Amino acid sequence: MLIISDYHMHTPLCGHATGAPQAYAKRAIQTGLVEIGFSDHAPLLSHKDPTITMDYSQLPIYHDMVESVRAEFSGELTVRVGIEADYMAGYEDRTKAMLAQYPYDYVIGSVHFIDKWGFDDPIQLKQWDIRDVDEVYREYFRLLRKSALARIFDILGHVDLVKKFNFHPKKDLTDEVEENARIFKKTGVVIEINTSGLRKPAKEIYPSLHDLKIYCQKGIPITFGSDAHRPEEVGMDMDNGREWALAAGYKEYVLFEKRKIVKTVGLV
Ligand code: ZN
Ligand code: FE
Ligand code: FE
Ligand code: ZN
Repeated sequence: MLIISDYHMHTPLCGHATGAPQAYAKRAIQTGLVEIGFSDHAPLLSHKDPTITMDYSQLPIYHDMVESVRAEFSGELTVRVGIEADYMAGYEDRTKAMLAQYPYDYVIGSVHFIDKWGFDDPIQLKQWDIRDVDEVYREYFRLLRKSALARIFDILGHVDLVKKFNFHPKKDLTDEVEENARIFKKTGVVIEINTSGLRKPAKEIYPSLHDLKIYCQKGIPITFGSDAHRPEEVGMDMDNGREWALAAGYKEYVLFEKRKIVKTVGLV
């Protein structure tokens, strides 16, 4: 069975993705997807950076854009409206207030920052040289748990993004991942199989098979996302994602509407 849904894709509003949203939808149909969701980077609330996210004032443009794709492709493709919002400790209430303004089908919560350090940003790569990698991982996982406990998000994005540039911890951090699984279960969040890791130096899907097995054992549901920043990336490596999920023990994945799981789809 092909994976039928791709819930993670961007638009040019974020300043680092290219291609019209219509081109993403066309590509989705070409690759056999029946459901997509846009999940562009929500405005940063801590500071402005037009190369990372849209501006707050552009939120209405984003929603008009997704609505027009939805109308244009109705009958051919189900188009969901999502968003990828940063988890920033201290900004929980402001994030909630921002997200309450629109009727999303799902909200992806992502940890891209440790304090003010954008650890997955190529421009800030040098920081890695002066950091203790084990500590960075622990801090990242701690923030992931805080993001779940904030109860702002439906899906947590790329839950080991910290491996992006191929820095790996020396210590075995299985205990941290088990604690993540416990908190994810308690808060009811879903995680995503994000295939974009294959296109990054880590050359591996997020999360790792080691981690995914732990999440599967705990019964954390999954969605699939390509994290496309170009139309050609829509649906990319979904077969690998499916194999990854099966290898971890998953039997199914979920679909969202109006911030609720509305369907489970079998992997076989
Ligand atoms: Zn991006
Ligand atoms: Fe992200
Ligand atoms: Fe993304
Ligand atoms: Zn992402």
